[in-house]
Amino acid sequence: MEKRLRLAPSPTGLFHIGTARTALFNWLYAQKIGGKFLIRIEDTDFLRSKSKYTDNILEGLKWLGLKWDEEPIKQSERISIHKSYIKKLLESGAAYRCFATEDEISKLREEQKKKGLPPKHDNRHRNLSKEEIETFISQGRTSVIRFKIDEKIQITWVDQIRGEIKWQGKDLGGDLVLSRRAKNYEIGDPLYNLAVVIDDNFMNITHVVRGEDHISNTAKQILIYKALNFKLPNFSHTPLILNSEGKKLSKRDSVTSIDEFRDMGYLPEALSNYMAFLGWSPKSSDSEILSLDEISEIFDLSEINKAGGKFSWEKLNWMNSQYIKKMESIKLSGIIKKYWEDNDWVPPSQEWAHKLAILLRDSMTLLKDAIDQSRPFFLIPTIQKDGQDFLENKDSKLSLKLILNYLTEEDITKLDKKKAKEILNEISKMHNIKKGILMKSLRVAFFGSLSGPDLIQSWELFSESKTDISRIERCLKSN
Ligand code: GLU
Repeated sequence: MEKRLRLAPSPTGLFHIGTARTALFNWLYAQKIGGKFLIRIEDTDFLRSKSKYTDNILEGLKWLGLKWDEEPIKQSERISIHKSYIKKLLESGAAYRCFATEDEISKLREEQKKKGLPPKHDNRHRNLSKEEIETFISQGRTSVIRFKIDEKIQITWVDQIRGEIKWQGKDLGGDLVLSRRAKNYEIGDPLYNLAVVIDDNFMNITHVVRGEDHISNTAKQILIYKALNFKLPNFSHTPLILNSEGKKLSKRDSVTSIDEFRDMGYLPEALSNYMAFLGWSPKSSDSEILSLDEISEIFDLSEINKAGGKFSWEKLNWMNSQYIKKMESIKLSGIIKKYWEDNDWVPPSQEWAHKLAILLRDSMTLLKDAIDQSRPFFLIPTIQKDGQDFLENKDSKLSLKLILNYLTEEDITKLDKKKAKEILNEISKMHNIKKGILMKSLRVAFFGSLSGPDLIQSWELFSESKTDISRIERCLKSN
């Protein structure tokens, strides 16, 4: 039988990292077992669902490289089918109309609260007679449909991540509401637990992999599967992503949507690699830098931890920097070029742009770092305090003067790394100035500070953009 997994996001907000990681685990497992990965948009909350969020989720999935196999299904287009199943449940006696008003339900909650009891419906309308129903309707009361939950039943399933899970019927909050309120004998809009069972069955889903916050829903859903004689899928509940304090990661942790990660300069490969390791680690590989295809080969749901995965910016940043280092220079310079264009910075040649990308690659954590790091290659930087202090050193100005003389007097056709080193060696020997002083002085002239990327490689680039001499002159003048 074909193995089929799905992501069932509700488009009520931007694509969040928690949903993205659920998608990733589903996708990885589908690849691993040669199954299909499907999407169902659960857009039945008409007030909060927006098509812009559906687009955002689908774009985010594409960006992460999580391709789905069939046209996404929209739950809102299946409402009449959901209702037809509710009707069946009503007819078979597995469900019934409940006319309890909002006020009556709040009262019940209040009383339970006073007694320190958890909220639980008292199933007061489970056995209404036809006449009682007629009376409620004639009074103008609306009704929801409730599914009967046997208090004495124990629901058991083998979760692929957590092993055997047992849930008691009495702990499910009383008879389950399947649909919203409706007038007369109508059936209102179906609710999550009903719709999800009908749709997973319709889509022939064989494996349901979702967050652990759905465990009690699974217990309820299993009862609906059984009442409808549907085949049960396998269930797996993934741990939550936690913040540094061990609490559920939320918007307050400044980690929200996937496109924010993209805009911050994370690479999709790095983010998906990182997310896979949030709650899972391979038994058969020591490497942490693995592509999605590599992970899918060794991934197994049973290896996912039961405990929540702590989100760490440090680890994500490290992973991103590893991916940037590994990136093909053409691809990297293509990305960096866009940042330059945004700033109206024009590289003197393609080759120069390429060389600068390679130079910056090693010190970048985020793609966006390229903006600050390439700025001094396009704009003459102001001299910082550490640079100023260094220029006080008696040999530093002399160093710059000597380098300037060399550059203006000698006929240098091409200043490459070899030539640059040669110049420094010669001046150092001839004038008995330490090479370190020469290099630091030059660094201040180029970058306005004692920090920056590799000096010799940078010099080659400044020479090619014909700004090395003017930078040295400017530095000598400014003091
Ligand atoms: N729409 C539900 C959610 O986003 C789906 C849960 C499920 O996978 O069944 O939480």
